[in-house]
Amino acid sequence: MMTEYYAVVGNPIEHSRSPEIHHAFAAQTGAALRYERLLAEPDSFELVVRAFFAGGGHGLNVTVPFKEAACELADECTDRARRAGAVNTLKPQPDGRLLGENTDGIGLLTDLLDNVQVPVAGQRILIVGAGGAVRGVLPTLLAEKPESVHLVNRTRQRAEDLLAFVGTDGVRCLAGGLDDVPATPFDLIVNATSAGLHGDFPDLPAETVNPSSTCYDLVYAREPTAFMTWAKAHGAGRVVDGLGMLVEQAAAAYALWRGLHPNTAPVIQTLRAPLPDAGG
Ligand code: NAP
Repeated sequence: MMTEYYAVVGNPIEHSRSPEIHHAFAAQTGAALRYERLLAEPDSFELVVRAFFAGGGHGLNVTVPFKEAACELADECTDRARRAGAVNTLKPQPDGRLLGENTDGIGLLTDLLDNVQVPVAGQRILIVGAGGAVRGVLPTLLAEKPESVHLVNRTRQRAEDLLAFVGTDGVRCLAGGLDDVPATPFDLIVNATSAGLHGDFPDLPAETVNPSSTCYDLVYAREPTAFMTWAKAHGAGRVVDGLGMLVEQAAAAYALWRGLHPNTAPVIQTLRAPLPDAGG
């Protein structure tokens, strides 16, 4: 069996758990593959990508801070990657052209619907943060037709620009700063800030959370994040970290590359045990 070659490129990259996840998928599906971490500098990203595929690479994941650059580099993008303006998965086509996809949204959605088992359709959603991760997940969440999406960010302008770029898909959407969060309950609150990496979380009104609320932190860590602790203290019904999303977005990339969707539950379970201090 020929060994297929995959990798994830980013900066920093040493903490990425993607090799562990994809090697677990390979073991489960009987595939021979090698999956490595590639460090790139801002001015060497394109070179690293071209060299990877020229060397016979079968598929590449892209992480912070290169997802937007990957979208520009791809010869064609799926609809959701184009709407996000960000690519986290590259796949060479038979003619050598590179296809760009963004699996962050489907990763979050699959985790919410299948693992956490909470709906998105018809829900009132609050998203805190307006970085690359929100670009990736917003088009997929909007396509589910929630009742409304409030998108707030420390830098208000960034939230407004992001919403203008992605569009509302016919959903009632509001973009603003952290001070614009209404003191009313949300069904789903997604923390997509990296504040938790420093044990921090923006102050939100306590009234945003009630026992019907699900609070989802895109960050995952061994200990509950500051957002998860805040959510629990304010009586949220469900409090979840982003490990499931991480595995589900990887599974969607694996399926795009190899035409086979791995079973994610045992991989999430295995990864849950030895988590690093913080990551995402
Ligand atoms: P990013 O592009 O760097 O954006 C960071 C966001 O966090 C911005 O909205 C920023 O606000 C906000 N922020 C940072 N520090 C803050 C603070 N102290 N108070 C309030 N807001 C703060 O990062 P990203 O790519 O969107 O990723 C966001 C998080 O999601 C990261 O922790 C990442 O690890 C995690 N993630 C997880 C998964 C997964 O599969 N689970 C996937 C993707 C990302 P400003 O705009 O004001 O700077």
